[in-house]
Amino acid sequence: MRRTWIVWPTLIVGVLAFWAAPRAEGPAKARFVIIGTGGVTGVYYPTGIAIARMINAKRAAYGIRAAVEATGGSVFNVEAILSGDLEFGIVQSDRQYQAYHGLEEWAAKGPRTDLRAVFSIHPEVVSLVATVDSGIQAIADLKGKRVNIGEPGSGQRQNAIDALEAVGLDWKKDIQAEGAKATEAPGLLQEGRIDAFFYTVGHPNGAMQEATSGSTRVRFAAINGPGIEKLITAKPYYTKAVVPVRATYPAAMNATDVETFGVKATLCTAASVAEETVYAITKEVFDNLEEFKKLHPAYATLTRERMLEGLSVPLHPGALTYFREAGLVE
Ligand code: GLU
Repeated sequence: MRRTWIVWPTLIVGVLAFWAAPRAEGPAKARFVIIGTGGVTGVYYPTGIAIARMINAKRAAYGIRAAVEATGGSVFNVEAILSGDLEFGIVQSDRQYQAYHGLEEWAAKGPRTDLRAVFSIHPEVVSLVATVDSGIQAIADLKGKRVNIGEPGSGQRQNAIDALEAVGLDWKKDIQAEGAKATEAPGLLQEGRIDAFFYTVGHPNGAMQEATSGSTRVRFAAINGPGIEKLITAKPYYTKAVVPVRATYPAAMNATDVETFGVKATLCTAASVAEETVYAITKEVFDNLEEFKKLHPAYATLTRERMLEGLSVPLHPGALTYFREAGLVE
């Protein structure tokens, strides 16, 4: 069961095949939707595929064809949803909040008030992984080190900056900050070209599997201490979390699980996306939740009620209609 997520490369081929297929088949008026995800070795990508497969299996009923796109992550997805390049995107709960309120990356652009929530998905953990040789055991040890904080457009970049600031480190001066993609970071770590990287992600995932199973010995570093406690108290969207290292990455050089903080993955859309489309996707996932949960071990703790938590922007009316019908909201 633990290894189920390794089957995803097969599905990637499936998606490529889907793209290559002639467009003439299927209902003439099929509505085409694209779900923005993250890097292919994260959890957003298989999540997008899981949702797309469910909705495509009912194409005759809904007239929707869904496809996924690998992207740089949350911040990219918010912008692409609002520009109409994507109909849906997976977005960290903290980034959803910041976009709607015009904070962080959105401070200059202004509030993204057309962003709408559909439902939340798996918990995501702000994870820091380092080479054993770097001597990094906890976030405060990053001073002077080469650290990938994530590419612009990713969700983890601001989490890394927040965590560094919380322990008194200036990401521009006190570390050598890199902005590599999440898919590239494990290779850079294994090759010794960086000492550590941040990734805000569900567990288990392919990137951490890759980072921990090469010849360079690595460990997860703790993101804890008084500064981090204060950060979690100050920001409504952060909660305490642990990286489940022992059960998930046996090759990592940790004797115990590692303390940190986390957020939630959420499915977002734009106010302009058709109500029937959002309703159909919500209904498919919620009505078939037990089947959905089998598609990735990161979904183990999902319940219908928990999938309404962590949503800080208005619900899309299509999702709201379903939640009312299902008795999940008044
Ligand atoms: N949380 C990451 C981001 O928003 C993506 C994680 C994933 O792809 O699973 O950039």
